[in-house]
Amino acid sequence: MANAIVVGAGVIGLATAWELSRRGWSVTICDPAPASQATRAAAGMLAPAAEVVWGQDALYPLMRDSAERYPEFVARIEARTGRPTGYLRNETLVVGLDSADRQTLDELAAQQTRFGMRAERINALQARRLEPALGRGVVGGVHLREDHQIDPRTLTSTLLEHLGERVRRARVVSLLEEGGTTVGVVLADGSRLRAEQIVLATGLAALPETAHLPLRPVYGDVARLRLADPARPLVDRTVRALVRGRPCYVVPRADGSLVLGATSREDARSGVSAEGIHQLLEDGRRVVPGILEADLEETMARARPGTPDDLPVVGRLDAGAVVSTGYFRHGILLAPLAAAVAADLVEGRGIDHDIQQAVDPGRFAGAPAATHHRSPRGSHA
Ligand SMILES: Cc1cc2nc3c(=O)[nH]c(=O)nc-3n(C[C@H](O)[C@H](O)[C@H](O)COP(=O)(O)OP(=O)(O)OC[C@H]3O[C@@H](n4cnc5c(N)ncnc54)[C@H](O)[C@@H]3O)c2cc1C
Repeated sequence: MANAIVVGAGVIGLATAWELSRRGWSVTICDPAPASQATRAAAGMLAPAAEVVWGQDALYPLMRDSAERYPEFVARIEARTGRPTGYLRNETLVVGLDSADRQTLDELAAQQTRFGMRAERINALQARRLEPALGRGVVGGVHLREDHQIDPRTLTSTLLEHLGERVRRARVVSLLEEGGTTVGVVLADGSRLRAEQIVLATGLAALPETAHLPLRPVYGDVARLRLADPARPLVDRTVRALVRGRPCYVVPRADGSLVLGATSREDARSGVSAEGIHQLLEDGRRVVPGILEADLEETMARARPGTPDDLPVVGRLDAGAVVSTGYFRHGILLAPLAAAVAADLVEGRGIDHDIQQAVDPGRFAGAPAATHHRSPRGSHA
């Protein structure tokens, strides 16, 4: 049986390991702290429509492709493991709090429609009919029926449980190379593992061999809230909002908890920002006032692995190694596509030309690492 090592057990590494083992590969996954980084913080919005923003035409087809793969991806995992993935096909509302927000949402809805998504503009009354808990300041918005969600913690714990002893809790410090080809990895304790193919899915963390990739941390603060009576959820849909141009969202989980997110900071502070959480609660309460009745269960900050053009970095490093990282705000959504593309590369199969062009690691050759990229307005996750 062919064997592979996947370095990194975030959503990307785990989905890739799952896909490879489904295709008959013997897979070892190395990570000292599986699913502890960006994946742990993520809200899990699967939002190909709401995440459409100007100037990201190459990203949109990837988001739509991956969203279409989701039902089969989770059905296979649930059938094979007998465990849940936390996938919910509930809808999304995007609402605005003043006329400028409303105008931005109208323009985005036009863009979403141009890309073939169902984006229905709704007024304040229609929005409140759908979600009676919306705040009085909501002036209207957009109803997106095809943007769903998954709980990344449920998904990754199911995959980790399934992969079991194939997960080695160890840090990879470098790659083993012979004659210019990667043939294995070196672990922090000095031991060496060999395999025919290595997939590097370490998110933001670079190995010496990937240090040239222009990844940058975009921190996000996020809060988890719990209502006293989980049988009576505040909202049935994910509610995303622009509050005076600032994005925020409330994602209702099946267990009655809520995810309130997220800030977007490039200030190199890895701790939870008090100002960030204050801003989320302040904006969130204007969108769904009832959140202030919930218990504040957890606050967290993690870095999204950003790239200069907001597109992932997936491709061959050499005949023995494939890199798959840079999923920025969309790694949960893009996981099924990422897994399929990395597995195709591992197996030496061709991948779709447009996808290959969009994610090619070579596109940054000679370009300076991005340090001052501005996040596009209207982007939330
Ligand atoms: C606040 C927030 C909200 C988000 N919301 C959404 C959302 O709603 N929808 C969406 O699609 N995306 C969302 N994202 C983005 C998403 O979380 C990321 O794109 C995705 O989790 C990236 O996954 P990853 O596996 O590449 O990286 P990570 O989750 O960061 O995993 C990388 C793994 O590699 C391991 N690792 C690192 N170095 C080594 C090494 N040397 N050896 C072994 N292992 C190593 C780490 O321990 C870690 O487990 C959000 C992100 C944040 C921060």
